[in-house]
Amino acid sequence: MLELVQQGAPDPMFTLKKIADADNDPRKVDLGVGVYRNEDGRYQELEVVRRAKKILDGLDLGHDYASTTGDEEFLRLGAAVLFGENCEALISGRVSSVQTISGTGANSLGASLIASTVPSTKVYIGLPTWGNHVPIFQHAGLEVVTYDYLDSTRHAVDFENLLDNVREAPLGSVFVLQGCCHNPTGVDLSPQQWGELAQELSTYNQVAFIDIAYQGLGDGLAEDATGLRTLADAGLEMLVCQSFSKNFALYGERCGALHVVSQKSWLAEIVKDQLRSIIRKTYSSSPAYGSRLVKIVLSDQSLRTLWLKKNRQNLLSHIDAHHIPGDWSYLVSERGLFSCLQLTPAQCRTLVDHHHVHLPENGRINIAGLSEENIERAAKALKSVVCL
Ligand code: PMP
Repeated sequence: MLELVQQGAPDPMFTLKKIADADNDPRKVDLGVGVYRNEDGRYQELEVVRRAKKILDGLDLGHDYASTTGDEEFLRLGAAVLFGENCEALISGRVSSVQTISGTGANSLGASLIASTVPSTKVYIGLPTWGNHVPIFQHAGLEVVTYDYLDSTRHAVDFENLLDNVREAPLGSVFVLQGCCHNPTGVDLSPQQWGELAQELSTYNQVAFIDIAYQGLGDGLAEDATGLRTLADAGLEMLVCQSFSKNFALYGERCGALHVVSQKSWLAEIVKDQLRSIIRKTYSSSPAYGSRLVKIVLSDQSLRTLWLKKNRQNLLSHIDAHHIPGDWSYLVSERGLFSCLQLTPAQCRTLVDHHHVHLPENGRINIAGLSEENIERAAKALKSVVCL
């Protein structure tokens, strides 16, 4: 039998990663796999994860089996991060949440749920997209229909094309959409487009399948969830795949969840039970380590604040501690990966030339380049150029 096995399809991203990892040239710049890196190009653990690990260690929870559908408190907290505490679907018990093997596992479980419920369902996927989307749905035995997501001449979403597909697809089709920070184009729907899309999905009775792997890395946690919250508020049937790989830098721990929104709470109970049954016969339960860390952070107000503000808040605290003159509060009101320090080009050059703190002359810094190890040095250097 085994002589009949065929080689699997190649995986371009992991081939690229293997080549990059093996490249020891000091000039290396790895812009491949989507991993938060520090200024040395290495993996960077979040400070909040480091602290949660210490707390977890003290709890001495052991390594018993997790339940099939996962830790209920972790799921409740995760659902609130996605939908917002006041979401009607959550409050009325219409959301079935289960733990998954990160975002990939959530996509795969969602695909299995669809395939085992209505095998003839057509799955609409806009291209280009994450390289695993089409294979996951095909592997589940579903028919995938592709369309152009991007109008490349305008470098914008081809929204009319998306709406045409929603209108022309057989009723009850599934539309796979990315919640924010679209991989690979970086081009997302606007809040207004999400509103229009919600209307059309509802009119044509289509199901939304939202994959959100980068919540918090775009405009902020709540802002990045605008699209899926708009669809949930419109009362649509939807599946949402949540990953904590990127926003907690927990890639290897495989931590995530699938949240299915039904139109009635009694349906949600049946959906959850079907998910339990699929999980049981495929991998039995999800890894516990990552979800324990995420639960610790999300349930502790001060860690949660640190998670949200991360390095921005940290830098501000160090600036305060060193009594560096000036108003630096903009650091925590801005969002995203970058911040522009209000420094003169000469001050920036001094930081580079005399302090090994590398930043361009416009003062733009990669906030993710700060770590517990280097932040104190950076703050002291900043003080010396500001207080010259
Ligand atoms: N969806 C998208 C759009 C992604 O980019 C990724 C990761 N590259 C995933 C899902 C899955 O990531 P993970 O399984 O690590 O959560």
